[in-house]
Amino acid sequence: MDKLRKLMAESIANYYMCQLKKDQWKDLRYLKVIQFKKLKTVLKHAYYYIPYYHKLFKSVNIRPNDIRNLDDVKKIPLLSKNAVQQNFADMVVNGVDVSRLPFGVTSGSTGIPLKIYRDFSFRNFGYYNAVARYIYSECGVRPDDNFVTVWGRDSKSIRWGKKYVRLWGGVSETVVPLFTPARLIRILRLIKPDVLSIFPSVLITLVNYGFFGVSPRVVFTGGEVVTEHCRELCRKTFGLEPFEVYGCVEFGNLAFECNEHCGLHMITNTAFVEFVDDAGESVSPTEQGEIVITSFSNYVMPLIRYRIGDIGIPTDEKCSCGRSWPLIKNIQGRTDDYLVLPNGRKFSHFYIKRAVFHKILRYNIFAFSQYQIIQDRKDHIILKIVKGREFAPKILEQVKKSLKEEFSKLDAHVEITIEVVDKIPMGRTGKRKLFISKIIQ
Ligand SMILES: [Zn+2]
Repeated sequence: MDKLRKLMAESIANYYMCQLKKDQWKDLRYLKVIQFKKLKTVLKHAYYYIPYYHKLFKSVNIRPNDIRNLDDVKKIPLLSKNAVQQNFADMVVNGVDVSRLPFGVTSGSTGIPLKIYRDFSFRNFGYYNAVARYIYSECGVRPDDNFVTVWGRDSKSIRWGKKYVRLWGGVSETVVPLFTPARLIRILRLIKPDVLSIFPSVLITLVNYGFFGVSPRVVFTGGEVVTEHCRELCRKTFGLEPFEVYGCVEFGNLAFECNEHCGLHMITNTAFVEFVDDAGESVSPTEQGEIVITSFSNYVMPLIRYRIGDIGIPTDEKCSCGRSWPLIKNIQGRTDDYLVLPNGRKFSHFYIKRAVFHKILRYNIFAFSQYQIIQDRKDHIILKIVKGREFAPKILEQVKKSLKEEFSKLDAHVEITIEVVDKIPMGRTGKRKLFISKIIQ
């Protein structure tokens, strides 16, 4: 039965992928019409079936039919991560047994942990897969490629790709956990990826360690800011320009860079993405704005006008590739510092994040309502936490132990201090960082 479901999901994914491939060349006005229809369907669903939105719409005295065009969406208040945390039970569709629902967890670039129930109905799950498949295909990935993703999550062993998915036009993806840099490089040399998908800070960490002997044809990167430094290292190491993909745990992939590398194409069929200023007004093209997202493919726990915590610059420029999807000039926001160990080596913050979040906190998602890790000396870090509604002292011990294990794997002696605080202030840019290092880098 499980196989049958998988096969059905694969064929639905292929159907949607073909649709995306056709739609990308259509007139932008037509794409906006499709986008508005999808948006309206989500708004109606949320109003009638999700208690939180029903109350929210009533509190500002609007009904879904008052939203007559994309501009009207501004009548709906923005949704913060704190609001999702606080109204969690009311954000899920009525009448569904949540214990049976799959979910994703995000540590968030702002250190506010969140749990998001996923919509695994055939239609939406198929669509989710279709978007990834479409992006890979547009960027030159072939079905027989050896596709390797280096992932920052907690897993101990390599998850090898399954060849049968290729039969259905899928990508056979091998996922390698975030091993220590030396081990990661050794493994990647053995696996010889044709396509490598990797976080920018992990790529930079590996390059600092001497990343050679691996020659992918395509490199995808994202999940945090892709700096010019990262691009330059990619050109020098592999002789190619990386493809940035913008996505997140909450929504999956939303935008991608094409062969022209002149910005990221927003797939308007997938979500409605806004760029707003401090007053909540849309910024003009080429101006920097906070990214606000409404996704179309989660009817279980829809997020409407969700403040993801990233900053981006929209643009009216047309890409010379001819695709009609509008462009984001660049994305800023998710920039955490590098961890600097006593031996002077720099490591991606994902090593720390994995020890705290993916190993411990993801299983106790409401234990901390916020957290932040600060390195003040090469041999000392401070973990600041704000207690959540399911806080227990033993979780602090578990986190400390997990961090110690991580440092010992990296051959470093680092002291850990935990501070329980009432709140964690915003940074100067109005953003909270998850990991801050005060060591000059
Ligand atoms: Zn393009």
